[in-house]
Amino acid sequence: MNEYESSTVSKMLEAAGFTMVKNPDQAELVLLNTCTVRDQADEKVWNRLDNLIPQKRKFKAKKVAVLGCMVEAQRDAFLKRYPQIDLLLSPAQLKNIGTELEQVTNRNFDSYESYEYVHEANSSLFKSYLPIQTGCNFNCTYCIVPAVKGREVNHSPETLLNKVDSLVRSGVREVTLLGQTINSYRWEKTRFADLLESLASNYPSTWFRFLTSHPVLFDLRIIDVMSHYKNLCPFVHIPAQSGSDRILRSMKRGYTVSKYLDLIDRIREKIPGACISTDMICGFPGETEEDFKQSLNLMQRVRFETAFMFFYSERKETVAAGMQDSIPVELRKQRLQQMIDLQMDLQSTIYQERLGGIVEVLVEGRARRGKDFLKARSAGNFPVFFEGDSNLIGSIQKVRLIHASSHSFKAELISQERLLNA
Ligand code: SAH
Ligand code: SF4
Repeated sequence: MNEYESSTVSKMLEAAGFTMVKNPDQAELVLLNTCTVRDQADEKVWNRLDNLIPQKRKFKAKKVAVLGCMVEAQRDAFLKRYPQIDLLLSPAQLKNIGTELEQVTNRNFDSYESYEYVHEANSSLFKSYLPIQTGCNFNCTYCIVPAVKGREVNHSPETLLNKVDSLVRSGVREVTLLGQTINSYRWEKTRFADLLESLASNYPSTWFRFLTSHPVLFDLRIIDVMSHYKNLCPFVHIPAQSGSDRILRSMKRGYTVSKYLDLIDRIREKIPGACISTDMICGFPGETEEDFKQSLNLMQRVRFETAFMFFYSERKETVAAGMQDSIPVELRKQRLQQMIDLQMDLQSTIYQERLGGIVEVLVEGRARRGKDFLKARSAGNFPVFFEGDSNLIGSIQKVRLIHASSHSFKAELISQERLLNA
């Protein structure tokens, strides 16, 4: 979501006459779009500001703006530590960024909304994000998101179809739908499965994927619809968070390990070759060695194609921050390392097992690694590199996977024809 918002703001700035510089030290205007989901994200922002703010003394025209969730959570801390910041905008205030930037920069801006779904015709990007939902109605005890983003708000199917229409007409081949618990999407009688179905059937040449699914609301219709439409990518990001029922209860996730596993089995059974990705947290308050082992067991059992793994980070005013039995940070970090090691091991076998397979990929551009190499992403979301001509960029191709590392594949092109009628 932050990437999406940052790119929208960049488009506004370009239209107002700004050009992007490589180094923030040289910039006249620097915007930091912040995340506050874990403490490490906050630290990055403070470090950047520690470097940027003193530059304002030397370079009087330099302006610094801070956007995003950290502003909602810590506005007073910003005002106290760096009153020199020119603009502080919380997520709820982002829609006013045009007017706010006019005051800071003396240039003219259109509204944020008018840039939201503008996709530059000549852009080398063939992919676009599309938020369909903001906020979250869950209350996982560790999570600050509901406090900073507010309650769930969904966009109407009509608005979304219009947006997709304009994206597709400007050359976009892959749309990633975004929402915190995307499968809870609902607009009057339209549920998430209905929305997916109408997008997939109206735009058969466009790939669709979506992030993030909540295990509790993943109804079987979604699996059904995914298995019917070839352009719905066989990729599901469905965080488990923990493999211990006790910890899941304490996190208030609303499911048990066995319910989660049933769901994964159903997805794998109905969508052959589906790639499943997770988020995992270790070192949650009260997590014993046994609970932690159960998380590792779950990872071994599911064999996730990708996993985003974090050690628990206390967030002020969340329920978990007040819990007993906090785990020492060193132990949390040790557990995280163990988790990452396991996932890397599993991943390298999972990748090896896919060798020889034929997959469809969307060609994204030239790879940096070798001049004749193209970089692409498979429908299942694996990074894939293969030798090919630049005119394939932006097309969907079939390739055979011939070599695997733990993060990507090398492949060879097996067909030049466009699989979907562009
Ligand atoms: N809405 C999504 C995730 C939002 S935050 C969902 O429900 O899955 C992204 C991820 O950050 C979470 O899945 C979780 O794994 C992690 N996360 C959130 N709060 C955290 C915290 N306090 N400490 C460590 N990781 C956290
Ligand atoms: Fe946070 Fe839970 Fe909502 Fe995800 S579902 S954003 S983890 S509260």
